[in-house]
Amino acid sequence: MSYCASRFHTVRRNTLEVKVGQVGVGGSNPIRVQSMTTSDTQDISATVKQSIALAEVGCEIIRITAPNVPAAQCLKDIRARFTAAGFGHIPLVADIHFLPAAAMEAVEHVEKIRVNPGNYADKKKFAVKEYSDSDYDRELQRLHESFTPLVLRAKALGRSLRIGTNHGSLSDRIMNRYGDTPLGMVESALEFLRIAESHGFKQMILSMKSSNPKVMIEAYRLLVDRMNREDMRYPLHLGVTEAGDGEDGRIKGAIGIGSLLYDGLGDTIRVSLTEDSVYEVPVAQALVKKAMSLWQPPATLTASPFARFASSADAIDPFHFTRRPTQSLPLSPAALVGPEQPPRVIVRVPSIDGLAETAAQLATARLADTPAEGLLVSVATTADLQSAAAHWSSIIGHWSFPPAVPALVIELSQSLSADMVAATAETLPAGTVFLRTFGADDIEVLLAFVQFTRAHGHTLAVATTANDLTALAPALPALGDDRLLFTLSTPIGSVAGVNAHPTGAHRALVEQLRLAGSRAPLWIRNTSDTAVNGDPSFLSRLLDAAILTGSLLCDGLGDLVSIETEADPARSTRLAYNVLQGAGARISKTEFVACPSCGRTLFDLQTTTQRIRAQTGHLKGIKLAIMGCIVNGPGEMADADFGYVGGAPGKINLYVGKTCVQYNIPQAEADARLIALIKEHGKWVDPSPVSA
Ligand code: SF4
Repeated sequence: MSYCASRFHTVRRNTLEVKVGQVGVGGSNPIRVQSMTTSDTQDISATVKQSIALAEVGCEIIRITAPNVPAAQCLKDIRARFTAAGFGHIPLVADIHFLPAAAMEAVEHVEKIRVNPGNYADKKKFAVKEYSDSDYDRELQRLHESFTPLVLRAKALGRSLRIGTNHGSLSDRIMNRYGDTPLGMVESALEFLRIAESHGFKQMILSMKSSNPKVMIEAYRLLVDRMNREDMRYPLHLGVTEAGDGEDGRIKGAIGIGSLLYDGLGDTIRVSLTEDSVYEVPVAQALVKKAMSLWQPPATLTASPFARFASSADAIDPFHFTRRPTQSLPLSPAALVGPEQPPRVIVRVPSIDGLAETAAQLATARLADTPAEGLLVSVATTADLQSAAAHWSSIIGHWSFPPAVPALVIELSQSLSADMVAATAETLPAGTVFLRTFGADDIEVLLAFVQFTRAHGHTLAVATTANDLTALAPALPALGDDRLLFTLSTPIGSVAGVNAHPTGAHRALVEQLRLAGSRAPLWIRNTSDTAVNGDPSFLSRLLDAAILTGSLLCDGLGDLVSIETEADPARSTRLAYNVLQGAGARISKTEFVACPSCGRTLFDLQTTTQRIRAQTGHLKGIKLAIMGCIVNGPGEMADADFGYVGGAPGKINLYVGKTCVQYNIPQAEADARLIALIKEHGKWVDPSPVSA
């Protein structure tokens, strides 16, 4: 296994430095933030204006689409005017799909060229064809001939290239040999890398984007593994493509990009949002700041038995998603935890007195499809415990809300002994979850709590760290996994003597559970102690929740989730479900795949996305793509069920899967026709009064 990122610490991968104009990417440079203009490239003034706006908010590399040769020619004036405006130090990148001629023009004017190996010189026809080895070699030879002139010209002019693979637009050749897989994405890039290297060209950056963070994470890890095997050290450009807008777009981007940055992978990033591009930059900057605050020098980890991801017996396979097998556990009468169950959502209640109010708020907030499945309250004394019990019995006595009764989850202070809690426990409903922290010296206390909770049919959530669990491990066989949960206690502390990041500390805890033979479920708690770099802003808290929860879920870890950094219970619930949806772990609403728009876009993507979301956002389990153009849109829609794609100015094409079923519909009719199409395929449900 040559993949060698640390899974507990952020040790930056050692890469070549690639120069994009004056900006170094990889090597010892900071992680660079980039974005893309959305104007028509041939509208030179608008494109220069957008480039200046991006530069002024701190964008370090700016990409501009060059859909054809005339657009590529405009890059000359754009570069000149951008430089004249005082931004000569900021490199421009031409985004090329399909047309080598556009790339050959663009390379004369801008510092970097992005090519998509899925369509550079290849027409994608979604053709199913068996490629014999000689067919395949012939295709590679054709590719060599098409790509070589660009490589040679880039080399002569001192330009760099990005080999930018997208999951949704793999070539027919790759699709037929490797399928629509991370391996196919990696092979697609390697074909281009080998051609460039055959000409002694190394100024390349690679990307493996997908709208699915899980696929994207696996593809980048696999790429690093393959590059290591071939002794290649090219920097990585990270991005989750077609992530959409608003909270959902930010969450998806943070899951994919953040997870890899915390693995130590990634040298430049773009957060794609279906919003004005200037809004992408602060999100990317916040991600970069978090990751760079975690960087550890590689030397600190050399002696650590935990230093490497994926030892042969690891709990996590970095290349294939497998959910960690766990013991089944009833959280409440309506919610099981464990195998085949979606991760459950726990919500913190601000105070014991607020229990009833929170329960009512969560019900009246029309959260029937996104219920809080446990309400978490802290108690410091036995009087608090009695008060919580009294409030709870009054709540469940009057429970008539559409979501089922949640579990009561009580966080106990360290001053409460098992005996003190047991004295009140009879007034609490069976199945109450008690959360308590256990340190390395607490074996006896732990055994006492297990005995008490078992005797009353309660569940014990053990908060501890990987290090403390090493000391507690001898007790685990006696505890069994029945009615036992684990979660991370804070402060997180170190793993193998070096401070771990929150995701790494959870992985280490799971690794210790595996070594101890425990299959107890894992509760991912997002608290102020699991925040990275202590920024209290809403954006920072959102990113922390998405990175920690999302990256663990994408690793197959996590059975319960709470976002306790959000004080408002309804907001906390919504954020938890949005993160679960972003990670593909629990689907509670329509999944939107929306391109960020660019110079090819044929309609207003932002207002269209919002309008379609308002009409179809309740269709749980449906994946709907809204794409700006037919040149790239259908290819990039990946596995969407239905597609709304710009076909021509003012005209929309509708898709079912990858098949276009209605062409050139006037845009004014397209929303209604899309809904009719969804109905025709039996996928429509009317919005319910509760979930509307
Ligand atoms: S799908 Fe969207 S972002 Fe991609 S090329 Fe078309 S308009 Fe541009």
